[in-house]
Amino acid sequence: MDWSLRGCARKGHVTYAPDEAELQDRLHVTTQAGEAWRCLRCADFVVGEPHGSGPANQAPTVLRGKALKDATILRLLAVERFIRGLLLLALAYGVWYFKNAKTSIQQTFNQVIPAAEPLARIFNYDLDASPTVDRLRHLLASNQHTLNLVIAGLLAYAVLQIVEGVGLFLLKRWGEYVAVIGTSAFLPLEVYELTHQVSVLKVLALVINLAAVFYLVYSKRLFGVRGGRAAFEAERASESLLEVEEAALSVSGKHLHKAATQS
Ligand SMILES: [Zn+2]
Repeated sequence: MDWSLRGCARKGHVTYAPDEAELQDRLHVTTQAGEAWRCLRCADFVVGEPHGSGPANQAPTVLRGKALKDATILRLLAVERFIRGLLLLALAYGVWYFKNAKTSIQQTFNQVIPAAEPLARIFNYDLDASPTVDRLRHLLASNQHTLNLVIAGLLAYAVLQIVEGVGLFLLKRWGEYVAVIGTSAFLPLEVYELTHQVSVLKVLALVINLAAVFYLVYSKRLFGVRGGRAAFEAERASESLLEVEEAALSVSGKHLHKAATQS
């Protein structure tokens, strides 16, 4: 799958006229249809005015190829985090509702858990069989102070999930750190769930979370792994088309050859 082409199909091409004449020559052709500039993402020539201009080092950083594929994975993870955050908010609401309404625990759960169930079903998560929810049921039998702590805990977890989601969606490095730390912190809970009831789906969830942590640390070079941030940014820059063009320039020197294109 060509991620760059897909990106351009969705968001349109990105063209840029660098101030450096030699570089400009390599990104620019005159066609019968008029001036054409090379897209920084898919490398196709696009007829029309460039979308921006200036020094090459100020060209927009365009995600292409592997970087674009990474971004898609991170955004899928982000969506999963958002849904999980909403599920936790629903649980917190359930506890709060119980605390104020003074209904029976069973009654509250009968009203609130079904509301959370469509979300839980997305994860194939059986709330009734969950020892965590079971523990919550026991906690609900305790006093108001404990209930407040439970609500605070659920809200904090929900906020963590949503912050992770935002950070991952915006492709921020801090979001990746929050996701790795947040996901790791709750791995023991997932293992705890498994000690009470083993299901294929719970094992799968644990495997996915372990894979996500490993993927983020390894591929994003977090915590200084594989050269850390500097190495990550060098890798990304080396993939950007302008860098490729500059490298090509330094090899071919003055011998410029324009891409023979009719597009
Ligand atoms: Zn393009």
